[in-house]
Amino acid sequence: MNYISKIRNNEVLDVVNKANKITKENHSNVVTLERAVLISWWCEKGDCSFCYMNAEKKRINNPEKAKRKVNGILAEVELCTRLGWNIEFLSAGYNSFSTEEVKNISKKMYEITKKGTWLNVGITNELKEYGEEIIGVTGSVEVMNPELHEVVCPSKSLEDIGNMLDVAEDLGFKKAITIILGLGESLEDINKLIKYIKEHKIDRIIFYSLNPHKGTKFEKSSPPSSLYYSWVVSTIRINFPKVEIICGTWIDNLANIGILILSGANGITKFPLFKMFGTKYGKRTEEEIKWTERELQGTFTDINRLGPLKSQYNPKYDAHIKKYIEESLKDKY
Ligand code: SF4
Repeated sequence: MNYISKIRNNEVLDVVNKANKITKENHSNVVTLERAVLISWWCEKGDCSFCYMNAEKKRINNPEKAKRKVNGILAEVELCTRLGWNIEFLSAGYNSFSTEEVKNISKKMYEITKKGTWLNVGITNELKEYGEEIIGVTGSVEVMNPELHEVVCPSKSLEDIGNMLDVAEDLGFKKAITIILGLGESLEDINKLIKYIKEHKIDRIIFYSLNPHKGTKFEKSSPPSSLYYSWVVSTIRINFPKVEIICGTWIDNLANIGILILSGANGITKFPLFKMFGTKYGKRTEEEIKWTERELQGTFTDINRLGPLKSQYNPKYDAHIKKYIEESLKDKY
C-alpha cells in the first residue's frame, strides 16, 4: 500500500476536523507569528544533509566572521516585539557562540520581550548555566526514524538529544523538538514520534516542511504535499490536545497556512519577515489566517507598528533598527 492510499484510508479531512475541534477546546483563538532569531551562519558539525550550513561550512573558513553582530540581533528582536511577533527561539550552529555569550544575548532579549526565550543551540551539557532568560530548550530531532536519522544527521544522535531534554525537564525548563517533513520518513514513523513526545514530556513541537537548499543533496527534491503535512499535524494534535504546535511554511507555500491552522497549529513560522512585510505575501498570510476564523497576534501589514527609527532600549541598536524599517518599507508603500 502506498502513502496516498494509506492516507486516504485515514480520511485526511475527517482527521483535520477532529483536530480543529480539539484545538478550539484546549487553546486560545490566537495564532502567533514566530520568528527564529539566528545568531550565526556557521555550525561546527555542518553535516546534516538538508541544512544550508552544510553548504555554508564548505564556503566559510573563518567562523568568527559568520557570527552576527549582537546589536543587530537585539534590534531585530526589538522590531519583532513591536510587530507582535514571538521569538520562536534563539538559534545557533554548534560551537559558534559560547554558553556565556548565548546567555548574555538571551538576558538582553529578556529586557526587550519581557519573557524567557527558547534556546536552540544544539546538544549541550551546560543548561544549568541558564536562568529565567530561558523558558525552554529545543532538541533539533528533525527526523524520528533512527536509521534515517543516522544518515541525515550523523553527528547529533536521538539519544543525546533525548538525554538533554530530560536534563532540561529536571532543571525546570520546557522542552521542544523540531521535525522536518519530507526527508524520507514513512507514515509509520509517526508512531515513533508519538512515543518520543510521551517519553520526553514534550511541550512544544515545531514542524517544518523540507526547504530544498541549493548545494545540499535535497536541492532537487520537492517539499511534501499540504495534505500529508496536515495529516501529520492533525494526528499529533489528536494525540496531544495540550501540546503547542508551530508549523513552518516557506513563502512559496503560503496556501499551506490555512489548513495547518485547522490541523492544530498554534503558530506559524519560517518567513522572511522584513521582505514580506507590506507585500502581497504578507497580506496573503493574514488572509489565510482570517479564513480559519482565528485571531492573528502581530502584523504583516500595519505600517504604524514599525514605530520610531530609534531604539527604546539602547542607542547602539538605532542603526540596525533604521535598516530593518527601511527594508520593510522599501518599494512597498
Ligand atoms: S547541527 Fe543544526 S546547524 Fe548544524 S548542520 Fe545540523 S541542522 Fe545545520
